Amino acid sequence: DAKRAGRSVTRLFDESMDEGIRFRRRVEQGLAAAIGRGELSLVYQPIVGRGDLEVIGFEALVRWNTEEYGPISPAIFIPIAEESNVIHDLGDWILDEALKTVQRFPGQYVSVNFSPRQFRRHNFVGHVMESVQRAGVLPGRVQIEITETAIFDDAERAAETLYRLRQMGFRIALDDFGTGYSSLYNIRKFALDSLKIDRSFIDGMGRERESAAIVHSIIHLGRALGLEVIAEGVETPAQVQALRLAGTSHLQGFFFSPPVAADHAIALAERRVIGGTPGDRADTGTN
Ligand code: C2E
Ligand code: MG
Ligand code: MG
Ligand code: MG
Repeated sequence: DAKRAGRSVTRLFDESMDEGIRFRRRVEQGLAAAIGRGELSLVYQPIVGRGDLEVIGFEALVRWNTEEYGPISPAIFIPIAEESNVIHDLGDWILDEALKTVQRFPGQYVSVNFSPRQFRRHNFVGHVMESVQRAGVLPGRVQIEITETAIFDDAERAAETLYRLRQMGFRIALDDFGTGYSSLYNIRKFALDSLKIDRSFIDGMGRERESAAIVHSIIHLGRALGLEVIAEGVETPAQVQALRLAGTSHLQGFFFSPPVAADHAIALAERRVIGGTPGDRADTGTN
């Protein structure tokens, strides 16, 4: 009968379904369950000042240890979550967790990543404000990281959202800067505090003249607009030296510390300055 036929068609479809689609679907469903199951955690990576290497903030990065596949990188599951409404529950969990941790830092801010879909959510500003108020955290202790994709599709509306967030005291960082579609001319319309130079340019800096030129341009642009410039993915003493010379305001990367668990981050925060020699700085802590 029709019902049975429908079932076998479904099964046939399942069997021939591309492994990739099946994986995506499982990730999506798994994420929804993971939130309640305690499979998610946040790790925190210090952001340091260029001069004295004082720890001024921490970027919160999500980790997911799945039962089925073991740890999955956020670079894989965030884009999948972003394609469904799961991103909202996930994002809420991430923000609440980061807000709990920032209260244990002696003064540093926490920098939280928001995906484009979260940022474009109806009443995003009210939603974030409600979370910080509920947690009893001052907006100044929270930096909102968004990418160029989040703001350039509907620039008018994004500019308004950023303006309101900034009015409330949040810090705003434009993440992975240089990899998106920003028109340099439009950048000045957005209420920003910092530009984060994408890791790919820092990585290429020592090898290709082009990457070094891009890094220098971003630093000059940031300065001209009165913005902080954070270099991400800093791994070597040579990069630290070059970036300091070029005038980057802040540095972040494995050279200083990988992302670490909350307790470890709090210990780093209390020390205030990331010390030690370049050699023993490279590999402190684990995820
Ligand atoms: P991102 O926001 O640009 O984060 C920086 C990434 O670079 C992180 O990867 C971090 O662990 C890695 N990293 C930091 N320093 C170094 C370094 O010196 N060398 C190298 N090779 N890598 C370094 P991660 O944690 O795997 O996150 C990847 C991306 O996933 C993030 O890029 C962000 O786009 C997204 N993501 C991570 N956590 C969250 C989150 O809580 N919410 C949202 N919406 N997205 C997140
Ligand atoms: Mg980020
Ligand atoms: Mg980034
Ligand atoms: Mg990135």
